[in-house]
Order: sequence, then structure tokens, then C-alpha cells
Amino acid sequence: VFANIVRAPEDPILGVTVAYNKDSSPHKLNLGVGAYRTEEGKPLVLNVVRRAEQMLVNDSSRVKEYLPIVGLADFNKLSAKLIFGADSPAIQENRVTTVQCLSGTGSLRVGAEFLARHYHQLVIYIPNPTWGNHTKIFGLAGLSVKAYRYYDPSTRGLDFQGLLEDLGAAPSGSIVLLHACAHNPTGVDPTIEQWEQIRQLMRSKGLLPFFDSAYQGFASGSLDADAGSVRMFVADGGECLAAQSYAKNMGLYGERVGALSIVCKKADVASRVESQLKLVIRPMYSNPPIHGASIVATILKDRDMYNEWTVELKAMADRIISMRQQLFDALSARGTPGDWSHIIKQIGMFTFTGLNTEQVAFMTKEYHIYMTSDGRISMAGLSSRTVPHLTDAIHAAVTR
Ligand code: PMP
Repeated sequence: VFANIVRAPEDPILGVTVAYNKDSSPHKLNLGVGAYRTEEGKPLVLNVVRRAEQMLVNDSSRVKEYLPIVGLADFNKLSAKLIFGADSPAIQENRVTTVQCLSGTGSLRVGAEFLARHYHQLVIYIPNPTWGNHTKIFGLAGLSVKAYRYYDPSTRGLDFQGLLEDLGAAPSGSIVLLHACAHNPTGVDPTIEQWEQIRQLMRSKGLLPFFDSAYQGFASGSLDADAGSVRMFVADGGECLAAQSYAKNMGLYGERVGALSIVCKKADVASRVESQLKLVIRPMYSNPPIHGASIVATILKDRDMYNEWTVELKAMADRIISMRQQLFDALSARGTPGDWSHIIKQIGMFTFTGLNTEQVAFMTKEYHIYMTSDGRISMAGLSSRTVPHLTDAIHAAVTR
């Protein structure tokens, strides 16, 4: 019965790793997938995560029962505090409902399904460009997906005018997907002043903000600073949604741990919203896994462990920032034609290099360097040892 199934293409991001794994060159370099690597090119498990896991293993009172549909209560409370701030009035007034979901992706999907069932305006605006999965997540949930201008290739920065025009022209009530910080793939974020203008415009038009927060702490090294955009919107008392991921900032990629929060105007509304979120979740996966959420809760509720985490997180953010500088310096020293200052201006895990599809294909073929075809490179996949090889490849690609 499945004889006529057509082969689907590889995922544009995860497919890069598939191709990388098949390459036998000793010089191969994977800058495709957004996962942190050490200076030695190895995946990193944070010490504080190891410590939390050890505590969980040694605690014989812990069992493997099902979690509630909405997940681990402590985890949900602490996750809301982490993103909205410990003193957030929305939390104190019980206007926030938070449900544990399967990392950032699952949180976005649950939010999307909820909106598709219960929100009156079934249109979502996503930035152009954006993380490739956004289009599919929201489209498959039944929302109509439209784009707003975001990136200006000529400046390799924000197309702020275009953004304001497109959101200004969006039908009233439309949902707007915003990257809380460290925009993927461009590494371009609005300034605080620009965020404030975006907020005013969106509130005046009744547009509903849906924040995707996959990199809190990873952009600047400060958890509070990286949540600034979200907190600005919550501070005005209006509604918003936020999808959090602990994949990057705690290195819990494969544990699939994240949270969806919906901020409402009143406590009883939040409680009714939560009852409907349960109806979304139950037939999808029943209830979320316990291990990753227990690790996060253990770390977030203990002051020492929390502090240890922030130090390790800052070290990851700093290594990425230092890679930006090293690559920029190497291209400058090499005299590679073009303005490469965007490498040090952009924020977060990725640099949107400006290299085109042919240049990317050339670098993969001749230099065994793997990245997405839009020219996005993961700075976290780079090290002092590999900067010269990447510099050679970029130089050769732009001077061919
Ligand atoms: N949103 C953005 C912008 C991302 O970059 C990612 C990870 N690449 C995610 C969401 C979701 O990741 P995860 O499901 O692994 O938490």
C-alpha cells in the first residue's frame, strides 16, 4: 500500500549534518546545525547539569510516574519567572499560564494549535527570513502564514522601516511571531528603542505577540538582558505568548524541554486558557517527559546551582562572541574583499554571512565546509583552530 510513496527531501538544516557525516575529509567542518561545540569541537554537557542529574539519580524517592498533562509544576513556575522576571506583576497576579512542552518546537506547536482553535484572527506574520520550521509549524496548525520584512541584505541589518510598514498594514488582531533575541538566521535584533516602537505599533493595532525564545542568555550572556523584549510587552499589561527552549542555554537539546506561557489580562482567563491547553496536549502526546524538566527545576530552584549555570552560560556566550572577533580579524588580515563588520555586529549563535548559494556550494565542494544554503554559519561550531580554514574558504569563494 505504500509502494507509491514519494521520497521526501532532507530537512534543509538537519540535512546539512547528514551530508557532513558522509564526507570523509579530515578537514570537514559542520557549521550547519545550531548546537554548541567546545573549542575542541565537542558537544558540551554543562557541569551544573551533570550535578543536577547526579542528585536526581541519588534521590531514591524519585519515581517515574506520569507527569500531569501540563508537566512539572515547579518547572512551569520557575520557567515563567525566568522569562518574565521574578517580580513580574503578571505572575504575581496569576495572569500567566505555563505548560511544559517538548522544547521550543513543541511549545510553538502547542501555542499554534491553541490559537488555531480559540483565537479569532487566524493570520500569523513571521519575519522574512526566519527559522525554517516556523512556516510549517504554524501552517500545519491551520494558521495562514504571512511574512513581514525584517532583514535588509544591503546593510546586513534590520529593515526597520519595512518591518513597521508591514506590521502597520497587517489586519487588526493578527498574530506576530517575534524572536525574543538572537534572531535566527540573521543574528540581527532590534535595539531597545526599536522594540519600544514595535510594541507601541502592535498594541495600537491589537496585534498579538508570540515570542520565540530559543536563546535566552545565549545572546548577551545575561538572562535578564535577553528577555528584555518580552518583559517590555508584558509590562504594559497586554496579552502575549512565549515559547521557551532549554536546548541551547542549558545544553539540553535531546532532552526536549521547553515551556509555553500565555499571559492573559485576568487570572480567571488564564485558568480557562490552561484548561483548553490541556485539551490540545492530551491527544497529541498525553503528557511531557519528566527527566529534562526535573534537571531544569533542580537548577532553577537552588541559588548556588542557578549561579553556576549563569557562569557556564556566560562562558558559552563569550566563546561565541570571541569566535566572531577572530573570524572578523582573520578576514581583515587576509584582505578579503567586502565589509565583514556584520560578523561582529550580529548577535547570538549565527552569522548571516551574505554568501550566496553558489559560494556556499563552492565552499562545501572545495573546502568541506557545511552550512545552510542561505549562507548562515553557526559560530558555536567554530574554534580558533578552524578559523583559518574558514577564512581561506570565504576568501576563495568571494574572489573566484
Ligand atoms: N526557534 C528558533 C528560532 C530556533 O532557532 C530553534 C532551534 N534551532 C527553535 C525554535 C527550537 O528548538 P528546540 O525545539 O530544539 O528547542
